[in-house]
Order: sequence, then structure tokens, then C-alpha cells
Amino acid sequence: MSTASPTAVLTGLSQVRAWQEEFYRDLHAHPELSHAEHRTAANVAVRLRELGAEVHEGVGGTGVVAIVRNGEGAGVLLRADMDALPVREATSLPYASTEVATTDDGDVPVMHSCGHDVHVACLLGAVALLTAAPQEWSGTLVAVFQPAEETGDGAAGMVEDGLVDLVTTAAGELDVALCQHVLPLPAGTVGTRSGAVLSAADSMRITLHGRGAHGSMPQAAVDPVVLAASIVLRLQTVVAREVAPGEPAVLTVGSLQAGTKSNVIPDHATLALNVRSYSEQTRTTVLEAIKRIVTAECAASGTPAPPEFELFDRFPSTENDPIVTERVSTAFAEHFGERAGELALQSASEDFSDLPRAFGLPYTYWGIGGVDPDAWRTAEAAGRIDSDIPVNRSAHFTPVIQPALDIEALVVAALAWLGTPTSTP
Ligand code: ZN
Repeated sequence: MSTASPTAVLTGLSQVRAWQEEFYRDLHAHPELSHAEHRTAANVAVRLRELGAEVHEGVGGTGVVAIVRNGEGAGVLLRADMDALPVREATSLPYASTEVATTDDGDVPVMHSCGHDVHVACLLGAVALLTAAPQEWSGTLVAVFQPAEETGDGAAGMVEDGLVDLVTTAAGELDVALCQHVLPLPAGTVGTRSGAVLSAADSMRITLHGRGAHGSMPQAAVDPVVLAASIVLRLQTVVAREVAPGEPAVLTVGSLQAGTKSNVIPDHATLALNVRSYSEQTRTTVLEAIKRIVTAECAASGTPAPPEFELFDRFPSTENDPIVTERVSTAFAEHFGERAGELALQSASEDFSDLPRAFGLPYTYWGIGGVDPDAWRTAEAAGRIDSDIPVNRSAHFTPVIQPALDIEALVVAALAWLGTPTSTP
């Protein structure tokens, strides 16, 4: 199978960079929290229309979808997330954020400390390069600018708002979904991996209903403190006894609250726990085991009401399709040479995979480096990468503009499909 060389498409790079860097600095200086990406989305939509894309705004709140139809061929979905975090920026960048957002918890500082501004600028750049060179590719490009990745519900929100129908009606069936994240790796490097790449995360709040009584009259009570203690211990068996050795999973009870006084048996207790897993199967096994154990322990205690379960802060697992990953890795290796490699398994979580899952599409998710290569070499030589290189979410997270603001990986990966107009993936 032959794929078109990205070289011809990338000849427009310097022209695109002329405005893309400025767009990025402005975005970095004006970050917006999850579900509040109004200014970002508006600026993205304006730029996309200037590029000649068909633009749909307000998908799942502030989501923006751009469609570029360019003849027969594959349909490729590219996704960038747009939201920032409640972090006070501590970089000394001339374009550092001083933004403050008003929330239910009061005024909070806001910063693009996860690099989603990089993702937006890169995806706009990729759309610009591809729309400027329609003769070099064929097919349909769908660029999704997604809100609220940090709260784990932005992708699902776009899906619930009819994203699949909208795209399928306007662009036809798609073939693949692609996504990248800037990471604390040397800028200019790129890497993906087959199979599990990011963990699924689930938080659960459990309310246990007992029967309160005076501490001196336990026979009148159903003691939720003893019940909660028993549950916490029994939950330790889930990963140890129900998940296969070698399959990574974590179950942490981070909060256990009950009672107010030493001589009063309270009438309820609450647990809050967090689960990490790397496959949907393990995720289901662990979550179902938790419910089974808690329900059975409540029955064993004779509680007057069944337990209540509330899942929140949920992120799906990200499991890269082997065939798609192979095709993208090959294209990266051809284009980037030794700057392309394999991405290590990441313990972080993402909601990107909710999009391909809704479309029934295979996908791959890769990392691009954001750290100044000189700073990386210095830290590496001193054995101080962990202590000296700010990671995502840090108030000091500072992706360098070039080469981190790298449009090439998106273009190269997209052309692995769009550059082969007559073949099917
Ligand atoms: Zn992120």
C-alpha cells in the first residue's frame, strides 16, 4: 500500500506558523475552564471558516466541528480538546495567563497547564495545511474541537448532542479517529503504542445506611462504622483475587466518613473510592465486584436500606487499535526517523475514546514532546528529569512553541489515510 508523501502538504508550514504561533500565545493567555470555552470556541470557528471548512458550533455546549470534503476516499476524524485547569500560572512567559474564572467555589485562577492550547493550535494548523493543498490528498477530514476533557464529560456531551448523526450526515461514514497529547518528553519527538495507552478512571461514592443509637446500646443499632471498616478490608481482595496477575488495576478508598462523637453510633457512613484500569473488561470486573461486595456486606449487617452508589469523574480506557497504530507508527517512522518511537504506558486518563466508541471507529492516540530539547538534555545528564522537567498540570508547565507546536504529526497521521484515495483502511 502506498501513502502520499506529506512533504508536499508540509510546504505551507512556514505560512501557517506565521499566524498559528500568535493564535497559540493568545489562547495560552486566555484559558477557559471546562464547559466555559466560549472565547476559545468562537476564535476557533472564525479561523476554521477563514480556512474554508464547513463549521458547526455549539455541539455539546461549546464544541466545534469542522468538515472538509475533498473527493472520494477515507474519512478521518482528528480531535483536540480545548479546556484549561484551575491552576495559577507560575511560568514567566510573556504570554502567561492572568485569567480568573468565577465558579461556585469562588474566583479561581485558570491556566492551560495540560497543554490543550497546543492541541487546538496544532489541529487548526493541520486543517490549514490540508485545505491549502487539496490536490495532495483525497477524502474527508473531520476536525473535532472538544470541550471539557478535564471533567471527563466533554466527548460524551458532544455525542449526546448528536455528533454522530451530524458528522455522518455531513461527511458520510468515517474510517479512523486520531488524537494527540503534548507530554513531558523532548519537543520534536512523537510516539504511540498498540493496545492500552491510558488508564480508565472511575470514582464512586457509596452511602451506607445503618441505624443510629447510643454508643452504650449497640444492640439497638446497625453500626455503619463496623460495616464500612469491613467493606474497606474486603475491597482489598478485588484486585488481589479477582483480577488476573499482570493485568494492571488499582482500587483506592480515599475517603471514609462516619459519625461525630465517640459515644454515638451514627446512622450512615460514606466511602469514596477511585479505580484505575487499562481495559474495559477489567474495569467492569472491578466495578461490579465493588457493588457485589458492598451490597452483600450490607445484607450481612442487616442494614435497614440498601447501599447507594454514585459514579463520578469517569474516564474511559484508551486502547489503541493495533492495525491503526501500526499504520500511524510506520508513517511516523518514515517522516520523523529517530524522533519517532514507542510511547510508554501512561497512568493518566482521557475521554477522547468516547468519540471513536460512539462512531464505532478504530483509533490511535499518541504523545508529542513539549519540553525544550536543550532543557531535556541538561536534566537528563544530571539525572534530574523527574525533578526538573515540569509535567502536565504543573503551574510551571511550559511547552516550547517550536517544535512543540508541531502540526506535522497530525498531518502525517491523517495522510496515512487521506493520501490513499482509492484504498480502504
Ligand atoms: Zn490533557
